[in-house]
Amino acid sequence: MTFRATILTLYPEMFPGHLAFSLAGKALERGQWSLDTMQIRDFAEDRHRTVDDTPAGGGAGMVLKPDILAKAIDNVSEGDDLAPGRPRLLMSPRGKPLTQERVRELAAGDGVVIICGRFEGVDQRVIDARNLEEVSIGDYVLSGGEPAALTLLDAVVRILPGVMGNALSGTHESFEDGLLEHPHYTRPQVFEGREIPAVLTSGNHAAIEKWRLEEAKKLTAERRPDLLKGK
Ligand code: SAM
Repeated sequence: MTFRATILTLYPEMFPGHLAFSLAGKALERGQWSLDTMQIRDFAEDRHRTVDDTPAGGGAGMVLKPDILAKAIDNVSEGDDLAPGRPRLLMSPRGKPLTQERVRELAAGDGVVIICGRFEGVDQRVIDARNLEEVSIGDYVLSGGEPAALTLLDAVVRILPGVMGNALSGTHESFEDGLLEHPHYTRPQVFEGREIPAVLTSGNHAAIEKWRLEEAKKLTAERRPDLLKGK
């Protein structure tokens, strides 16, 4: 079954963005995954098509209105026989940080419905009432959820069956086994006086695997000791 992504956004023209290019773009053209956008503003009812309002309790910025967003979400669900099977993700810096493990789970499913926040964020009641899963792509604040949604989709689409051909098979990738990936080298043999480590050109596959694992462990210990906890 084709993996279906539906994006609720105030900026549908930001999609498919970079996902129109390279392997993800080819896979999109081939119909290996699909992407629909829905303009949240289309669900506003007033003359000015208002989607936001001032925060209750005061303070800076504006908040996306719950009634408008709920209508947009319900519209996806109505036209979607897969709705119960598609997680509804709200991109949010307060969300659970996205991991390769969650990316793998999402890629194994039927698709995703992604809601892109803007302004100060989204009224809490629609998050609760529509059971939205808040997902963060890192500890920094973007101006909108669109680049975060594209990032999440990029990570998911590249591991869909057939998208990367066999480029992924048999390769060790960062996070797949809880480690960062070992360093890579290619020709020339000598670059600005630096040589490719001899083991990699030895032809000894067992020794190469051992070296790669050791390098991966060393790098992870140096850069991301948090990943080694509990190992
Ligand atoms: N006031 C919010 C806060 O401090 O948590 C930040 C809102 S941000 C300016 C506007 C929108 O960008 C958010 O609703 C969310 O959709 C998106 N966004 C910003 N940073 C993000 C991140 N790290 N991960 C995922 N989405 C993010």
